[in-house]
Amino acid sequence: MGQHDGRVPDTFDVVVAGGGLVGASVAYELVLRGARTLLVDRHDAARATDAGAGILSAETLAVEDDVWSALAFSSAEHYRALVPRLAERGAGDPGYAECGSLSIAFREWDDDHFAATAQLIARRAAGVVEEISERDARAMFPLLGPVRRVLFNPMAARVDGRAMTRVVLHAARDLGLYRRPGSVRAIEAAGGRVVAVATDRERIPCAAAVVAGGAWSPELGAPLGVELPVAPLRGQIVHLATDAPGTGEWPILQPVLSYYVVPWPEGRLVVGGTMEPDVGFDASTTVDGLLGLLSEAVQLVPGISGAALREVRVGLRPASVDDAPILGPLPGVDGAFVATGHGANGLLLGPYTGKLVAEAVLGVAVPELEPFGVDRFAPPISG
Ligand SMILES: Cc1cc2nc3c(=O)[nH]c(=O)nc-3n(C[C@H](O)[C@H](O)[C@H](O)COP(=O)(O)OP(=O)(O)OC[C@H]3O[C@@H](n4cnc5c(N)ncnc54)[C@H](O)[C@@H]3O)c2cc1C
Repeated sequence: MGQHDGRVPDTFDVVVAGGGLVGASVAYELVLRGARTLLVDRHDAARATDAGAGILSAETLAVEDDVWSALAFSSAEHYRALVPRLAERGAGDPGYAECGSLSIAFREWDDDHFAATAQLIARRAAGVVEEISERDARAMFPLLGPVRRVLFNPMAARVDGRAMTRVVLHAARDLGLYRRPGSVRAIEAAGGRVVAVATDRERIPCAAAVVAGGAWSPELGAPLGVELPVAPLRGQIVHLATDAPGTGEWPILQPVLSYYVVPWPEGRLVVGGTMEPDVGFDASTTVDGLLGLLSEAVQLVPGISGAALREVRVGLRPASVDDAPILGPLPGVDGAFVATGHGANGLLLGPYTGKLVAEAVLGVAVPELEPFGVDRFAPPISG
């Protein structure tokens, strides 16, 4: 195992289709376990990983389902172990920081929702997340405007999706990952099992393939007769430049009924993200989108009204019909697997679900994946 000599093998154990954080994580975990792996990525401009805000906060996720929530907690735990491991490999800085978060009610009509959120969080993270005063909140985030109620989650972290993917791929390359730019056209099966992957350039024999194409994943399931109920959920997100000092130490703001603000070093504040389910693969920046983001954010943080608009990013989240990720084997075709549908939480979930799916590809029984299989969408058998 280890960095290869540059010669490209004729066949692979596994081909991973899609190189956002999810596909990169699957590939990394595969090479870590010694599988001869090729990653093929088209790097669509609107891929979600490149736009993601990077909030990692399992404690404050508005998810009722306990199994889903447990996956989020395991994912956060996994980050805490993975980031130092990647650093030991000298793979670069993923922009990870355990910065904490503030869940906020700042308008009268937020109160009921805040109470419900506080109840859910208390069930999930009793003794960890606590209500704090407005004064304490402002001591942590000096530009914060008037607020009514605030919960502080010291466990929340942030990560730069682009940098994290780069770091994971750097480590994977050192472990022997092969990569090709390109578009996977189809996963080919014969006799009920995967035999090759066809790209726009070549046919690559392989024993297994993983669909990790984000919002574009359904086009790879269809030829295998598997419907992947995933659709693009557009998110616009604005990067602002302020001259406020110490922003790298500030917590994330998560108003219960409005847009979040993620602080980064050197005065950068990121406001996001719109949730636009009805625009298909259109990755435009829109007047409505920016107006909504900025008018809400300026109420929460009046101090940003003079900030410079640095950049707008747009990404298409891979949203599944039930909002939970779709993970594990594709039914009916031995060697075909999927890792998609991570929706608004793929930066949190991606590295951990990548590990679980890689284990499944290599034949390990992974009970944690069972609730997230694509077979949960199969119509009930009648009669
Ligand atoms: C505005 C915004 C804010 C977000 N904030 C957060 C957050 O705070 N916390 C969080 O956890 N998550 C967040 N997310 C969600 C997170 O970014 C996504 O869930 C995650 O990045 C999905 O990763 P992915 O690898 O599945 O998909 P993507 O990042 O979309 O990557 C898919 C890749 O597959 C490639 N591909 C597709 N089809 C093919 C093919 N046939 N052949 C080859 N390559 C192919 C694409 O080109 C692309 O490179 C946010 C997303 C957005 C848009």
